[in-house]
Amino acid sequence: MNIAVLSRSKGIYSTRRLLEAGQARGHNMQQVDHLKCYVSIEKSNPEIHYEGKKLHHIDAVIPRIGASVTFYGCAIVRQFEMMGIVSCTESQAIVRSRDKLRSMQILSRAGVDMPKTGFARVPKDKSDVIHMVGGTPVVIKLLEGTQGLGVVLAETKKAAESVLDAFYGLKTNILIQEFIKESKGSDVRVFVVDGKVVGAMKRTGREGDFRSNLHRGGTAEAIKLTKQERQTAILAAKSLGLGVAGVDILQSNRGPLVMEVNSSPGLQGIERSTGIDIATKIIQYLEKLSDMKTQNKDRI
Ligand code: ADP
Ligand code: GLU
Repeated sequence: MNIAVLSRSKGIYSTRRLLEAGQARGHNMQQVDHLKCYVSIEKSNPEIHYEGKKLHHIDAVIPRIGASVTFYGCAIVRQFEMMGIVSCTESQAIVRSRDKLRSMQILSRAGVDMPKTGFARVPKDKSDVIHMVGGTPVVIKLLEGTQGLGVVLAETKKAAESVLDAFYGLKTNILIQEFIKESKGSDVRVFVVDGKVVGAMKRTGREGDFRSNLHRGGTAEAIKLTKQERQTAILAAKSLGLGVAGVDILQSNRGPLVMEVNSSPGLQGIERSTGIDIATKIIQYLEKLSDMKTQNKDRI
C-alpha cells in the first residue's frame, strides 16, 4: 500500500517508527505535513494538494494530529476519507476525543468509570461545584490543556475557590475533579489497537508532583494490567470510536478510573518501556482496514 503518515515532521519518534514499520512490511511510506495540505471541494471530486501538486495514489493514512491544530488537521483527514482513503483513526473520533468534556459525557453513558467530575461556568456556583465532586482536595483542569499544563491540585476550599476565580477571569472552560490520592502521582497508559490492548505502562511523576506526564519529567515502566483495567481501556477506546487509542487510567480504591483518551498517543514512552513494537501493530491494523474495504467493494 501507499501509506501517508500525517505528521508535522519526520524527526518525531512516533512518525519515524511508523515510517520504518510500514517499510519493513513492504509498503510505500511517506510523511505528509497536514498543515501544508490544501483541499479543493467541488461536486463529486474531492482533491488534496501538497507542496504545489495534487496528492496521488494514497491508499491509507495514519493521522498524527497535534492538539493545537485539531480543526485544520481533522479537516484534512476528513478530506482523505471523502476520497475513499482508509484512515486508522476517523476524523470524527479525533474531534470527539479532543473535547475532554464531550469525551467524558460519552464515556459516562457507555458505563466507563471516571473520577467524579464537574463542569461549570458561573462563579456563584463555586462552592456547590466543589461539593458536587466530593469536596477538597480537588483537581482543576483547563479543558484545552495538554501534557499536564493547566492541571492544578487545590488542597483547600479557599485555594480551590481562588483557582476557580482565576480561571473564570481568563474566560476559559474548566473541569473540577475529585482528587484520586491513592494513585500517588502515577497513572497507567494503556495502548489499544483494533480493540485489543497492545501495551501498557505505569507513569510516575517527579518527586512531589501529582502529575505523571512524561513531558513533565515523569518516568515509565511496563505494567501488567488487571482484567478490569484491560476491559475498561478497551471499552473507553470503543465508545469513542478510536481504533488506535492511548487510554489514561488512574488506579483508585474503587477500581480503574479513566482520565483521558488520547487519539494520537505517542509511541516513544510505550515502546521504550515495554519493548513492544507498537508501530507494526498500527500498520497491521491499517492492512486489515484496507482488506475490509476491498472486500466490501467486491460485495457491491
Ligand atoms: P493532560 O491532559 O494535560 O495530560 P491530565 O488530565 O492527564 O492532563 O492530568 C495530568 C496528570 O495529573 C495525570 O497524568 C495524573 O497523573 C494527574 N491527575 C490528573 N487528574 C487527576 C485526579 N483527578 N486525581 C489524581 N491525579 C490526577
Ligand atoms: N503526546 C504524548 C502522548 O499522548 C504525551 C505523553 C505524556 O505526556 O505522557 O502519549
